[in-house]
Parts: sequence; structure tokens; C-alpha cells
Amino acid sequence: MRGYEIWGWGDPADAPTTADLDALAPLVEQTTGIAAQGALQPAGPPELPPSRRLPNLPPSLRDLASQDPVSRARHGIGRSYRDVVRALRGDLTDVPDLVITPRSEDDVTAVLDWAGEVGAPVLPFGGGSSVVGGVEPVGLDAAVALDLGALSGLLEVDARSRSVRLLAGTLGPAAEAALKPHGLTLRFYPQSFERSTVGGWLATRAAGHFSAGPTHIDDLVESVTAITPTGRWESRRLPGSGAGPSPDRLLLGSEGALGVITEAWLRAQPRPAHRWSATLAAPDWASGTEAVRQLVQAGLQPSACRLIDPGEATLTGTLTTGKAALVLGLESLHADLGSAAAAALTIAADAGLRVVDSDDRSGGSASWRSSFVRAPYLREQLLLLGVLVETFETAVTWDRLDGLVNQVRVAVNDALVRVCGGGRVTCRLTHVYPDGAAPYFTVLAPSRRGSEVQQWDEVKAAASEAILAAGGTITHHHAVGRDHAAHYRRQQPAPFGRALAAAKRELDPRGVLNPGVLIPGP
Ligand SMILES: Cc1cc2nc3c(=O)[nH]c(=O)nc-3n(C[C@H](O)[C@H](O)[C@H](O)COP(=O)(O)OP(=O)(O)OC[C@H]3O[C@@H](n4cnc5c(N)ncnc54)[C@H](O)[C@@H]3O)c2cc1C
Repeated sequence: MRGYEIWGWGDPADAPTTADLDALAPLVEQTTGIAAQGALQPAGPPELPPSRRLPNLPPSLRDLASQDPVSRARHGIGRSYRDVVRALRGDLTDVPDLVITPRSEDDVTAVLDWAGEVGAPVLPFGGGSSVVGGVEPVGLDAAVALDLGALSGLLEVDARSRSVRLLAGTLGPAAEAALKPHGLTLRFYPQSFERSTVGGWLATRAAGHFSAGPTHIDDLVESVTAITPTGRWESRRLPGSGAGPSPDRLLLGSEGALGVITEAWLRAQPRPAHRWSATLAAPDWASGTEAVRQLVQAGLQPSACRLIDPGEATLTGTLTTGKAALVLGLESLHADLGSAAAAALTIAADAGLRVVDSDDRSGGSASWRSSFVRAPYLREQLLLLGVLVETFETAVTWDRLDGLVNQVRVAVNDALVRVCGGGRVTCRLTHVYPDGAAPYFTVLAPSRRGSEVQQWDEVKAAASEAILAAGGTITHHHAVGRDHAAHYRRQQPAPFGRALAAAKRELDPRGVLNPGVLIPGP
């Protein structure tokens, strides 16, 4: 399919075919209630504005630089709905002029030195799976995409401390493949695992798919190395430290605005040998959240604890009885899961939940897992068939959770009626904590061809306002990027905002690093 190398999730062989779309079209209306439209014909590689000349590129960098239009287009978008729609239509105006692929830290330093001299914005690029406008050079003059893909691989294993040193451009599957012979895993699986990198995870404070326990990349970090325009930043490898504010914390979530992450020491672990899972039906959403709250507050750290509302449970095939589903899972290095499983089931039963399937490969959780992994591929097919399909997420404390979910549903449903003439929003809890949870919303609606981006922007604006008004965060794990920058500023204390801007001025005095994300421009 034309242009798949730019807008597609998978390899060229994964591109949807006409037969795939013909087979899916009748199912779309059956499962979502939204009529499929005739398949959109992708525009193919876009006509790009000519590359603006970037002067005086040092000879040592010339071999690493490309102006290939397909590469420029691919590096100018992430993977949000609005990115994919615009790429499908060939509507890409803000793309980098140059893509540079450094092979060493010295190359990174050389790029930043040169960019500072000529005033060229530099946007670090990992896997390009950003869903918040993190890699798109919107309104920037003569921008450079810095693709970390060649800085990839496992450098060192400290078996005694059980930590591993990985280069920033290592993709998820490559990291796991390198750790496997050592009997280790990062046990870190964001849904974008296939297409995202170690450096991207650190720069966006990504979260893996486990619901509790160490599931944020923050939890795995021992030390981070970055190249900033004013010097190399390498933190000391430590299992913990009370020595003042943590240098790693400043780089975590820095989204390419403070430095280019080149490598990190991460905590690894042996592969869990024992798993248990069950799917339960909840009489209603509130009983489900109550069960989940009690489970985590009882000290259980379920690997899976996905409370899925009835609409989404039906759509994903997790539970088709019209009830909310709770997909519960436990993992252990040791065989002793029985007592934890029994405790979890007792708590759930007391809250009114009923087991519908329980063993070490329960059907509901298997179908949920497979829809989780396949979701990016399904999403692009739905989009081709004219369905507006996008997600957003937040986190909030238990005292405000049910209120937030209701308010967001109402705001988004109103916006969908106004903007799309209808549609649906579903919700699940992706991550759970003793003091709160992360609700994750999926929106499905009929799109209006040619106006998809405006439609989504209006719906998203309503969702974001509702989230902030109900006390949530603008993002739990999708990062800030350009899309959430204004909302991020509204939720941060003003002195913190000034301190962050001062850190930016100190580390990046010429303002070349990813201007427009996190911190307002000058
Ligand atoms: C289908 C889908 C599912 C997703 N599921 C999840 C999920 O389960 N959990 C989750 O947390 N996120 C998820 N995301 C969002 C996205 O995958 C994450 O934000 C991911 O961490 C981005 O990694 P990346 O390597 O693709 O980074 P990119 O998209 O290339 O970059 C993201 C940001 O980080 C910066 N950056 C990248 N590499 C570096 C570096 N080495 N140094 C400095 N800055 C850098 C970029 O400049 C940009 O601002 C999903 C996205 C999609 C499309």
C-alpha cells in the first residue's frame, strides 16, 4: 500500500491489503456501530517542500546525513491519529530538512555544536512512535531529525547487580533478544514495544503494560547518559540515593529538550516462571473500581489488573455479556501464587465480582492480550475505512476516579455528537496504585473525510479540559510533546515552570533542542 513506509506501523509486508479491508468492513459496523466508508486511497510519498539548505555541515557529518524525501517525511511525524491521517493524505508540511544518524557520542556532540552555530533546531528521534507531536518540527525553520537508530545494542551486563547497559536507540525487541541469552528481561512492554526505543522510553517516561509493581521506565533506571549542548551528563550508577534532587529525574521525561540520551544502565530481572490469570465480571463499573482499589491497597501487586468497561470488553472480545470485565494476572519467580490468587479472588468476590474464567491461560485474558498487541495494526485499518480512532489517558486519585471518568465520558460524548454526529468512548484502567489509577479512553467515531484532524482536535480539546477540571493529569504515560504543552504548564507550580525553563537555558543556551516541547519558546 502506497506510503506505508511513512505512515504504517509494521514492515512493508504488514501493510493492509484490499482483501484485509474488504474483510474488516462489514465487521466494523457489527462491532462498533459505525458504518465503514470506502477505503481511503493513500496519497503515497508526499511532495515535500524543498530541503532548506543547512550551511557548513562538517565533512564528518555529511556521510551521516540524508535529505531523502521518504526519510524526511517518516521523521516528521509520530504515530497519533492526526499524524497517520495527515501522512495518508500526503499532507506533511512540517518535516525535517535533514535526517542525521550519529554513530557515536562524538557525532552527537558534533551535531549539537554545528546546530548551535547555525541555529538549526535538532529533534531527537527514537522509534518515532510519539503520539503527542514530540518529533514533528512544527513551525521550525530548517530542522534536523537526529535519528538514534545506529546507537543500538547491549553494551554490558553486570550479572552481580543484575543491571544492563543499553544504547539509547535499541528497539524493544532487540533489547529483549540481547538480554535473553543472559536469562534476563527488562519486563518492560509498552504497547509500542515493537517500534519504540530505550532512549524514547526514558525521554517520555513510558509505562509498560503491567498494571502494578515496577512498570514505569522510571522504576528501572540506575543511571542515564546524555549529551547536552553544554557537556556530557552521566549519572553515577546507584541502587538508590538520598543525595539531593536526582540527575536522572531531570532527564526522565525531558523529551529531547534538555539533552540527547545516548545510553542507560537499567535494572533487569530473571524471567518469571509462574503465571496465573482470571477474568471476572463486575456488576457495574463502580463495583469494579472498588474491587481494584481494595486489591492494590491489600498489597497485592497484580501484573494485570485491567478493569474494562462493558463497551470495550465487548469490542475486544474479553467479555461479551454486557458487564465490565476485570482481567487479573499474577506473576512470580516462585511457584507460590496460590495464596495471592485466593486473596485476590476473595476481595473481588466481596465487591460483587464473579469469576468467568480462571486458569493459567484464561480465554478472556488471552483475547485481551492479543487485541492489545494487534491494536496498532487494527487501528490503521479502521482509519483507512473512515473510522476516527484514537486514545488518551490520565491518572487520578481514588477519591476522584469515578467522578473523572463520568465527567470525561460526558464531555467526550457531547463533543462527538457535535463534531462527528455520534460515536463512542470506552474506558479501561491500565495502571493501578494504592492511591489511584490510570483511566485510558478509546474513542471511535465516524470521520468526515478531509476534516479528520479538525474533528479530533475538537474532541481532544474537550477531553483535555474535562481531565484537568476533574483533577487528573494531562498524561499518565503518553508524554507532553507539543500537543499537551499548554495543559502541562497549567498543571505545574509556577516556580517549577521557571526552574525548568532555567535548566533549559543552562543546558541548551541557544535553544536548539526540540523547541516547543515541554517549555515555551523564548
Ligand atoms: C500504538 C501505540 C501504542 C503506545 N503504547 C504506549 C504504552 O503502552 N506506553 C507508553 O508509555 N507509551 C506508549 N505509546 C507512546 C510512545 O510509544 C512512547 O512515548 C515511547 O516511549 C516513545 O518512544 P520512541 O522511541 O518511539 O520515541 P520517539 O517517538 O522517537 O520520541 C518521543 C520523544 O522523545 C524524544 N526522544 C526520543 N529518543 C530520545 C533520546 N535518545 N534522547 C532524548 N530524547 C529522545 C523525542 O525527541 C520525542 O520528544 C504508544 C504509541 C503508539 C503509537
